[in-house]
Amino acid sequence: MQLLDGKVLAKAIKAELKEQVAGYLAQGRRKPHLCAILVGEDGASKTYVASKARDCDELGMDSSVLHFPADIRQEELLAEIEKVNNNPAIDGLIVQMPVPKHIDSLLVMNTIDPSKDVDGFHPVNVGKMFKGLPTYLPATPYGIMMMLERYQIETAGKHCVVIGRSDIVGKPMAALLMQNTYPGNCTVTICHSRTADLAEHCRRADIVIAALGKPGFVKADMVKEGAVVIDVGITRVDADNERGYVIKGDVEFDEVAPKSSFITPVPGGVGLMTRIGLLQNTLNAYKVHEGIQ
Ligand code: NAP
Repeated sequence: MQLLDGKVLAKAIKAELKEQVAGYLAQGRRKPHLCAILVGEDGASKTYVASKARDCDELGMDSSVLHFPADIRQEELLAEIEKVNNNPAIDGLIVQMPVPKHIDSLLVMNTIDPSKDVDGFHPVNVGKMFKGLPTYLPATPYGIMMMLERYQIETAGKHCVVIGRSDIVGKPMAALLMQNTYPGNCTVTICHSRTADLAEHCRRADIVIAALGKPGFVKADMVKEGAVVIDVGITRVDADNERGYVIKGDVEFDEVAPKSSFITPVPGGVGLMTRIGLLQNTLNAYKVHEGIQ
């Protein structure tokens, strides 16, 4: 069994991105800039936005946070997005989800300029991804693709089971792994809450990607010997420690790890690669806007 170590990999890729940014600055160019819009006071959302800003800082990129009250009117929010769309100093824009219920999140995503949509959620970018055209890939599947590539995991002809069909993880993950490129060329099965015989599908998988948000769902008897196991789940589970909780993945790591060829830990796996996916997208957006090949 080999650990797919998000910590080691994220550190290495960050160093590469930092060097690229430094190179552009040395050419006299401006800094890449990621803007995050935050609506309301959700603690987890604030933490996510703060970590994204810290990552940018670490790489020598600019970041800004536009923080609006939870009762901001939808038209006001859309107008703020348009302002960012029209600001040539900003390369990437993310609107931290979830937004309050009175705001239509689909409309929000559709209002972001596709060339600044570094979350890869705009339908134009989703369509490009499905067609295999260059675009911004949703950060979590993008991070997983980088992980498979960097660890040189064979994917062609492999049977991959993705558990979960959300727009941000399951669907794009399946779409990417079925493309005629590396990593890809997999035969993909998508499972969800209505799948019959889910365990049987998993047992036939060479690669299992668990993205359902049910701690410890994937057990040893659901995984075949030598499978590659990618755990996307992050769930806070009550615990008797200082924080009052621990983070659990969707895979029962201790029993699944001995059967697997490669496996991601939680924490220290996919979560860190998701942050890299966003940074890479931001740098890609910067290159588009600066006309860098
Ligand atoms: P989501 O939108 O809630 O989607 C969950 C998916 O899992 C749905 O498609 C659902 O099926 C399916 N599902 C739920 N229970 C199931 C069951 N018992 N059997 C089979 N399928 C089941 O979640 P998400 O946003 O994709 O996130 C999934 C997990 O990944 C969460 O723990 C989330 O916190 C984590 N996550 C981690 C990262 C990271 O950076 N590591 C990033 C994003 C998300 P239906 O469609 O039928 O309801």
